[in-house]
Parts: sequence; structure tokens; C-alpha cells
Amino acid sequence: MKFLLARDAATRVHFSLPARPKNERTGFCASRGGHAVLNNHTNHAPPILLTIAGFDPSCGAGVAADLKTFAAHNCYGVAAITALTVQSTQGVKSVHPTPAVQLRAQLEELVDDVTIAAVKIGMLANRGNAAVVTEFLDKHKFAHVVLDPVFRPTAGNEELLDTAGLKFVRDELLKRVTVITPNIPEAEFLTGIEVKDLNSMKAAAQKLIEMGAKAVVVTGGHLDKPIDVLCEAGGEVETFGGDHVKSPNTHGSGCTFSAAIAAQLASGQQLREAVILAKAYVTKAIEKSYAIGKGAGPLNQLYRFHQEAPARGIHEVPQHGMHPASEPAAH
Ligand code: PLP
Repeated sequence: MKFLLARDAATRVHFSLPARPKNERTGFCASRGGHAVLNNHTNHAPPILLTIAGFDPSCGAGVAADLKTFAAHNCYGVAAITALTVQSTQGVKSVHPTPAVQLRAQLEELVDDVTIAAVKIGMLANRGNAAVVTEFLDKHKFAHVVLDPVFRPTAGNEELLDTAGLKFVRDELLKRVTVITPNIPEAEFLTGIEVKDLNSMKAAAQKLIEMGAKAVVVTGGHLDKPIDVLCEAGGEVETFGGDHVKSPNTHGSGCTFSAAIAAQLASGQQLREAVILAKAYVTKAIEKSYAIGKGAGPLNQLYRFHQEAPARGIHEVPQHGMHPASEPAAH
């Protein structure tokens, strides 16, 4: 079957579609409305990571940030949504928690289907959802669980976790995870210690260990020098410095950092190396960020995939029969 397609006065493209696929099992025939059956199942799945977090429609924080971060670390991400938020780069306007029964159903459906290499927990919204996640961790023992105990957004007055939920995190969830990554306000709430410098960060980290955490990273992005403090149960307190990156686009930094730690742990790194690599990744993602709206933009979690567009654009070369122009015209 031959076609002649007039694109414009100067260009004419000849193409032909095969009358039927060469191989009925593997061929794709667009003219028959068929579905591709090209996957021969020889591709190995990468580590599968689960994020349990909220949905941010501007996709700078929450599950969208986590999924981009997982992808940037060659991991496949699945997500259970704890809340729908209404927000943009200008801040969180409202929070709509997922009913606990539906959060539980999402989690059980996923765990029944795929093998989870690591779990990242972010926004939980309320005590009920924090309790569901705690039960879930008790039921299925995961090798690596990273908890970002987020309760307040940088922009906006809405709570990402209610006070009862925060207390539940402090009293129950905290001791069930591999590592907890509070920022300074979160560390202050959880420990009751006023954190204003490196020494008080260390004191808060040690207090969290005394409270039952296995490992803690207190992130110091709020300080002039973005120093992070790592403390592992039975280990030394370590500090990791870094230069402050001057960028207004830091929305989702905490989510991205904790997701990157989860990806590194799932990929075989020890905690200390995972933290160092995650910090380097977040720093670069802030450096490579760009504004997308009127407020603080997101990090660029996908900076590793950036390619300078060649003159003819970035695309895959169409395979046989996929595109009219991919077959030479039969003259
Ligand atoms: N929205 C959701 C769903 C989040 O999970 C978070 C942080 O964890 C935020 C908003 C706030 O992000 P940030 O404080 O980095 O702007």
C-alpha cells in the first residue's frame, strides 16, 4: 500500500505501510489499531522504591519529586498518596488527606504485586494515616525505610501533618525506620530542643537516637552554611558541610534528599555514603533548577537527563513501519 503525503508545497514525503506485520506475534500494525507486543521480558527491572507521601500539583515536592529522584537514580518508583494538596510554587493552599482505609488499600495492593527494595515516607497528613503506615511497616519488614518527618511547608500556612500525627511519629514511627531526616524546625518539635547552631543540631540528633531512632540526619539547609549532622545509634556524630547554593528554587529539597537516600540504600550504599551522595545530588539539583511559576521553583531532579537539543531535536529513530517517513518510498 503506498501513500503520498503533501506536507507543504515544497516537501513531499513518500511512505508505505506493510499490508500486514511480518510477524503477527511481535509486529505492531497501526493501521489495524493494534497494540505493541514488542516487550520480550528480557529487560531486568531496577530496584523498586515505594514513596508514601502527598501529591503536590506543581510537582516540585511530594510523590512527584520522589519519583523523579528515583528515576534519576535508575530506580523504578511506585507511590501511595497520603493526601491531595492544593498548591503551586506560591505555597500550599489546602490539604485533603486520603482516608486511612484507602491509603491502606493502596499500600497492600502495591506490596502484593511488586518487591519493594526501599520505602521513603514523606507527608502523612494526619495521625490516622501515620498509624496505617506504622502497621504497614510492622507487617512487611522492609530492608530500608527513610522517614522525612515533614509537618509544615516552607510556603503557606497549611499543616502537612497534624499535631497528633507528629506526636505519633515521635512516639511510634520514629523507631521503626532506618533513618529519619528532620530539618531544624522538625528536629526542634520532635526533641523539644531549640536548634540554632551546629552544637544544638548535634544535641537534637543524639536526643532522637535516645528516643529510639536508629539513625538521624538533621539537615541544616536553614542555616547560613548548609551543614547536615548524621548520628547513628552506637556511632559517632558526623557533620557534612557544603556551600550554600544561591537559588530561590528549593521547593521540595527535603523530599528530594530523603528520596535520594532511599535510592542509594536500595542500590547497595551504606548509610553514610548514601547521605553524602544524596547531599551532593540535592546540591546539584538546586544548582540546575529553574523557575516555573511565580514562587519558589522546584529543584531539577532530572538534571542528569538534560541534553542539548541537536538541530533536528531529540527523538528515537522510528523503527520499521512506525512512521510514514521511516520506509523508503517504493518507486
Ligand atoms: N507538599 C508536599 C506534598 C510535601 O511533601 C512537601 C514537603 O515534604 C511540601 C509540600 C513542602 O515542600 P517545601 O517545604 O520544600 O516547599
